[in-house]
Amino acid sequence: MSSDRLAFARALYDGVPLYDPKRAPVALDLTDNTNLWGMPPAAERTWRALPVSRVTRYPSLYSAELKDALAAYVGVPADYLVTGCGSDDILDSAMRAFGEPGSLVASSEPSFAMIPIFAQMNGLAYAGITERADQQPDLDALLATRPRILYLCSPNNPTGALVARATLERAVREAPGVVFIDEAYAEFAGVSSARLALEHENVLVIRTMSKAFGLAGLRVGYGIGHPALVRDVEKSRGPYKLNAMAETVALAALREDATWVADHAALAVTNRDRLADALRARGYAPLDSAANFVCVPVAQAVAVGQALRARGVAARPFEALPHVGDTLRVSVGPWPLMEQFLAAFDAATAEVTR
Ligand SMILES: *Cc1c(COP(=O)(O)O)cnc(C)c1O
Repeated sequence: MSSDRLAFARALYDGVPLYDPKRAPVALDLTDNTNLWGMPPAAERTWRALPVSRVTRYPSLYSAELKDALAAYVGVPADYLVTGCGSDDILDSAMRAFGEPGSLVASSEPSFAMIPIFAQMNGLAYAGITERADQQPDLDALLATRPRILYLCSPNNPTGALVARATLERAVREAPGVVFIDEAYAEFAGVSSARLALEHENVLVIRTMSKAFGLAGLRVGYGIGHPALVRDVEKSRGPYKLNAMAETVALAALREDATWVADHAALAVTNRDRLADALRARGYAPLDSAANFVCVPVAQAVAVGQALRARGVAARPFEALPHVGDTLRVSVGPWPLMEQFLAAFDAATAEVTR
């Protein structure tokens, strides 16, 4: 790669890959944990009726109206919020806001694949610390790295494990820097650490409207933290970052679709447990999940994933995860889709192990 470097390019970027989750089009895509029931109804009505003025004029600077609606949804004052172009933007901006060049980002592993990439993009060092056999972060080892930024994901992607409340509280008390708690799947877990952000000034809770809210294509994420902390994320993020269409539709979803979102999150939880039961009945041992996906240890997961793909179904394989080996991560949706997955899974595993 370095031989291709332009004379004016930063060496730092040689090692930064473009994100490629190998998401080729497929009839039934269960790889990205978005809302497979679709878009909530008021959001969809609002989307279809958007006035042209929303496109021709600038959006609001820092999404003040959306922050008010998010404040009511989360139960914190509006000055505890920052919005972004997806929660990816919050993570990236916050790393830039709090990391000096070379300072350390520590994350439990396995976890969100973008964290080491965001660290590198921002000129920060990265330490991945293997989780314990019970799928909980090894907090002693994480704290021993003395990270400027400690990243924890709860429920964790890709395992689905909820991080114990005592672990999160201790992380916030003892971390030498700021603690990021990624709650992309909070709606499915039914618990949140937003309260921690009210009590401590070194916590940034990161959430998104891409998963339970069914708005991944609009790119709306937000962070919850002490007003001084989120203001610095906002400075790092810059103005006008959330586009006008996204802001208007997200507002409608928060004001009118909360019941739809809660009902469909509950359905996802029911179908997740039903899918886990169906896998157990086949002799597999899916990991306990508090999210809208199931992570199931499967021998030769990459080959099984390819055999699934040949049958028009995609699930995300992970190779050699610590303590559990190869796994498939399967997004949960309406039950007929889960039946379609199970039929393809039976055929695919039979083919691979034959
Ligand atoms: C999906 C996901 C995100 C990204 O969400 P966006 O808001 O769409 O950027 C962040 N963190 C985790 C753990 C995720 O699984």
